[in-house]
Amino acid sequence: MTAIEALPLVRWSGVEGRPLVLAGPCSAESEAQVLETARRLQGVRVDYFRAGIWKARTRPATFEGIGDMALPWLSRAGREFGLRTATEVATPAHVEAALRHGIDLLWIGARTTVNPFSVQDLADALRGANVPVLIKNPTSPDLDLWTGALERVHRAGVRAIGAIHRGFAVASSTRFRNPPMWELAIEFRRRHPGIPIITDPSHITGRRDLVQDVAQQALDLGLDGLMVETHSNPDQAWSDAAQQVTPERLDEILHHLKVRRETSADARFLASLEALRERIDRIDHDLLDALAARMRVVEEIADRKRENNVSTLQVSRWSALLDDRVARAEALGLGADYARALYEIIHRESVRRQSEIMNQPEAKPAPDESVRSASSPPQ
Ligand code: PEP
Ligand code: MN
Repeated sequence: MTAIEALPLVRWSGVEGRPLVLAGPCSAESEAQVLETARRLQGVRVDYFRAGIWKARTRPATFEGIGDMALPWLSRAGREFGLRTATEVATPAHVEAALRHGIDLLWIGARTTVNPFSVQDLADALRGANVPVLIKNPTSPDLDLWTGALERVHRAGVRAIGAIHRGFAVASSTRFRNPPMWELAIEFRRRHPGIPIITDPSHITGRRDLVQDVAQQALDLGLDGLMVETHSNPDQAWSDAAQQVTPERLDEILHHLKVRRETSADARFLASLEALRERIDRIDHDLLDALAARMRVVEEIADRKRENNVSTLQVSRWSALLDDRVARAEALGLGADYARALYEIIHRESVRRQSEIMNQPEAKPAPDESVRSASSPPQ
């Protein structure tokens, strides 16, 4: 598999040293709404004006976008207010229509990224097009599916390419509409360090009051930009009303964001960081030694249980252990959720190991000496 060679973000966007910002309404609703939103974004540090024209909605009988008719509205907003434009494409016909109207950037939505056939059709339609393409993560937390979509578009020759991190659908309800699962964005960055990642705090949170915090967390991780749904009258929006902000609120959010540097050349800072990292390395090695020692005891327990034909799980013991460790962790200033999650992993692995030991095939009994000598040929 060849690496995805993405053009550095600065080469296609001109933006360097600060996050790239894409903003605009979830959906284009009317020419007046598109123009009014764009007008109020003038003077706000926005690099691309977004609007959804074809909306892939989870449920039918909801607003599915204005369609092709809205393309001239978007181009006009771009021309009149000096903004580059962006929209979501889900079919080759969308790509052709968007390119015909001179839309400056295209993105593939989360519900499309999940389907390799659709992504391949889009990649084929994008062949030879000179337009940046951003690919949202699939709704499911599947890095390979996300990577595969980038590869398909890359193989079609598109080099101005990037990823949009918009959170992942989960079965349980959480404070977020699509929890960010930052660990996946971090792992994506580790696997593809050259691909810019734009975070979409609007679809992650689903709530405008949380947008600022999630945007800051993305910048704290050194991610490269933000896509923020921005509407002239958010409460009246035809889609995603609860998460959209006004252009004025977006301006405030952007002013409050702290952009972190990737590193610093300050020698004292670098020396102290290195010393602290050495301490972390030593502590981690001790942690691993302790986990290995713990596992050896687990194996002894498994031997005893096997000899006595006792089950691997005693739920009352597990429950008491978990309560004790969570309380102890809290007393040490560690969060209860963190301790619980950690112990769930530790316990899952020790149950797995115990069950492996308990189900090992019985060792063959050593052959009886007297039988062997009786059946052995005479020496
Ligand atoms: C959108 O950006 O309006 C959108 C539909 O987002 P997603 O594909 O992330 O759900
Ligand atoms: Mn939306």
